[in-house]
Amino acid sequence: MDNKLYCCTNCYRRCGWDDLSAQEHRCLKCRLPAKSCAICDKRFEPRSEQAVYCKRCDFNLLRHAPVLPPDMTGQCNSHKYRE
Ligand SMILES: [Zn+2]
Ligand SMILES: [Zn+2]
Repeated sequence: MDNKLYCCTNCYRRCGWDDLSAQEHRCLKCRLPAKSCAICDKRFEPRSEQAVYCKRCDFNLLRHAPVLPPDMTGQCNSHKYRE
């Protein structure tokens, strides 16, 4: 049996492992009700009220987000003509 105390990831209150939620490790007071992911439709424990994607989809979204090219303005005008 595990008698160690663990900190809630939200309020840092110490509680037993069984009292923390499975995904976000939050205590009974801080945990949010499970939602369905807007992408894969899996049940997940949201980190915030606004979260609509599960962790996995959120991660994939970040990783596959289009990389914007560096701003090129300013480089084209670097040649100045002398009169
Ligand atoms: Zn807490
Ligand atoms: Zn998902």
